[in-house]
Amino acid sequence: MTNAVSSLQNFLDARLAERRAQQLHRSHKILDSAPGPLALVDGCELVTFSCNDYLGLATHPEVIAAQQRGAELGAGATASHLVNGHFAIHQQLQDKIAEITGREAALLFGSGYMANVGVINALVGRGDHIVQDRLNHASLIDGGRISGARYLRFGHNDIKSLEQQLQRARASGSGNTLVAVDGVYSMDGDTAPLAAIAALCARYDAWLMVDEAHGFGVMGSERFPSAGSVAAAGLSQEQAPIVMGTLGKAAGNGGAFVAGSKQLIDYLTQFARTYIYTTGMPPAVAAGCLKALELMQREPLRETLAARIAYFRARAAALALPLENSTSAIQPLVLGCENTVLAVAEILRERGYLVGAIRPPTVPTGTARLRITLSAVHTESQIDGLLAALREALHRASSPEVSA
Ligand SMILES: *Cc1c(COP(=O)(O)O)cnc(C)c1O
Repeated sequence: MTNAVSSLQNFLDARLAERRAQQLHRSHKILDSAPGPLALVDGCELVTFSCNDYLGLATHPEVIAAQQRGAELGAGATASHLVNGHFAIHQQLQDKIAEITGREAALLFGSGYMANVGVINALVGRGDHIVQDRLNHASLIDGGRISGARYLRFGHNDIKSLEQQLQRARASGSGNTLVAVDGVYSMDGDTAPLAAIAALCARYDAWLMVDEAHGFGVMGSERFPSAGSVAAAGLSQEQAPIVMGTLGKAAGNGGAFVAGSKQLIDYLTQFARTYIYTTGMPPAVAAGCLKALELMQREPLRETLAARIAYFRARAAALALPLENSTSAIQPLVLGCENTVLAVAEILRERGYLVGAIRPPTVPTGTARLRITLSAVHTESQIDGLLAALREALHRASSPEVSA
């Protein structure tokens, strides 16, 4: 081995050992079936409460058939959207997204991560300000850090703290200010106070960007029932000009979009580097997504999901489980310590249930949690089974001498 190689190996070994010692090392589980409430995970059939497929669209037969037909156009886009990777099906999907979100236009991205990094970097840079909720998704945080704009954080859902940061940005007297928030927080399930945030943005002449990864498809207004948290808060295109959503969660597929004014979309087409310098979305994926969005509009999937969420919360409250303030499909149980979370998740798994065990750095230190996600395709008896297993697991994990 040359010195350079051994130094790399030493570095990797040391960092990995540190991760293991902190109980933060992670590995993959292998899925051997279609995803869904019943899945084969590492060879065991488990009831899963860990997907973001909130409406069950990932396995909907009409979506799969549309995606298979879409593949007849070719397996891949074969070029970036601006070279020759933009098909009619991409255009139709963008139009459908604009219709559902109530915006003039939309633009497809390869993933939500890329959309967030691309949008922030296209809009702000050196001399500007980027203001973010401290619990924002990693992709927004990374986008802000890369941009070179001055990075200001405010307390989670704390309007006063946001206003202080907007005052700081204004006092600096230069550049533009972009405020970026999650509409629904991915690890907490709570919703941003968007009407108040939009009002502050208007007062301070800041631009509002909302990440709808967990709102799109599952909440909205009467007029735009699947649009997301921005519509649920009653915000117009002018009040919430930059809406980002993903197609990998409620739409059950992959990819992402930004929706807004025609000028915003034209601008991002010219300046968002994560849009320009990457291969276009495979046309089959666009065909599957388009069908999924049609099903969102046509089928009462949102209503079924809402009923499952209400059922879970009522039963969990009756068992005195430590619920958070979330009415979304994301229902975390914050246990605090990594070891407890891992122990409870392991007992649940022995009992046939898969839930997310979420540890730092995904969430702040001391707030390790089980992340339970509900879907319209869960049955009430699957939810009952999870809750019974949870009660036992929490009891066993809190009295280790019994479980030993
Ligand atoms: C999942 C997620 C993303 C990233 O979306 P991908 O399409 O999975 O890259 C961005 N923001 C939030 C809030 C998310 O939960």
